[in-house]
Amino acid sequence: MKQIFKMPTQMKITGRTSTMTHAFITSIIPHIEPTEKQVKRSLEILHISPHNITCAYCGDATTEWDHLRPLVKDRKPTGFISEIHNLVPSCGKCNQSKGNKYWRDWIESKAKLSPKSRNIDNLDELTEHLEKYEKWGEAHFIDFEKIVNPVLWEQHWKNRQRLFDLMEESQKLATEIKKLIGSKFA
Ligand SMILES: [Zn+2]
Repeated sequence: MKQIFKMPTQMKITGRTSTMTHAFITSIIPHIEPTEKQVKRSLEILHISPHNITCAYCGDATTEWDHLRPLVKDRKPTGFISEIHNLVPSCGKCNQSKGNKYWRDWIESKAKLSPKSRNIDNLDELTEHLEKYEKWGEAHFIDFEKIVNPVLWEQHWKNRQRLFDLMEESQKLATEIKKLIGSKFA
C-alpha cells in the first residue's frame, strides 16, 4: 500500500532563488508583441504548420514559446529580450531541460530530456531550421547598463540581494520552528 502514497513536496523558503532572479530580469526587459505577419513567417522558417504547432526543438506538441537565446546568464540579464526573433514554439520538456542554456549548446547535449538524449530522429533537420531562424531579422541585444542610470541599476540588484538575505534568514527561523513542532511527534 505504501507505494500508492506520495508525500507532498516540502517547499523551502530559499528554494525559489532562480525563479526570483528570473523575475528580477523579466520584470525589466521589453516584451514586444509580434505582428500576425511575423508569426506566420516564423512558422514558415521553422517548417511548422499553423494548424498543428509543434515544438521547434523536438517536434512534440507545443505548450509555450521559449527564448532561443537565454535572458539570464550568471544571474544577470544577457541583453536579449522577449520578441519573436528570439522566441520559438516549445514543449514543456524542452523548455525545462534547456533552462538558461543557449539552444545550440543544449540541443546536442546529453542534458536530461534534451532532444539528443530523447533520440529525436530528425534532429539535424530541426537544427537546420533553427539556424535559419536565428539569422532571420535581427534580435535586439541591449546594453542595459548604458541606458539605465547606474544608481537605479545597482539598486535593482541590491534589492534582489536583500530579498535573498531575508529568504535565507527566514529559512533558518523556519527550520528552528519546525524542529520545535516536530519534537511533539518524535
Ligand atoms: Zn520539445
